[in-house]
Amino acid sequence: MAQTARETRKKKVIETLNKARSMELQAIHQYMNQHYNLDNSDYGDLALKMKLIAIDEMRHSEMFAERIKELDGEPTTEPAEKSVKGQKVEIVFPFDAKLEDDTIDQYNQFLAICRDNGDSISAKLFETIIDEEQIHFTYFGNVAQHIADLGTTYLAQKAGTPSAT
Ligand code: FE
Ligand code: FE
Repeated sequence: MAQTARETRKKKVIETLNKARSMELQAIHQYMNQHYNLDNSDYGDLALKMKLIAIDEMRHSEMFAERIKELDGEPTTEPAEKSVKGQKVEIVFPFDAKLEDDTIDQYNQFLAICRDNGDSISAKLFETIIDEEQIHFTYFGNVAQHIADLGTTYLAQKAGTPSAT
């Protein structure tokens, strides 16, 4: 039996939400990996903020999953890409800033797809999450800039700081 137009639209929204969910799963693994490394290098403050951002991404992945379930879809368990491991601290922050910037751009396009397919709830979800990705982007960008401008002077301030959340 041919799909109704409504079913086709719903399928498109579920597919879009799952693309976003797989990006969140990638971010979780990437940031947790960086969190362990920063903690291991004794950059406590940088490590703890990384952990909190990873937890934000866990919440996002759940929010997408809950919406997918509401639409009778199946939430993906596959990260969009594999984590990059063993990054130096100078690489971590510009890398993550780019990841967030790309995510914001993608999510704005995903939001438009949801709207075009008649799903304002999913569009609103993207709007909420984009706001949080913007906070991540600003934070990662600031740290990247401090490391670029101040180098070891900035990192010396972070060495030995507590990592407990
Ligand atoms: Fe996120
Ligand atoms: Fe983020």
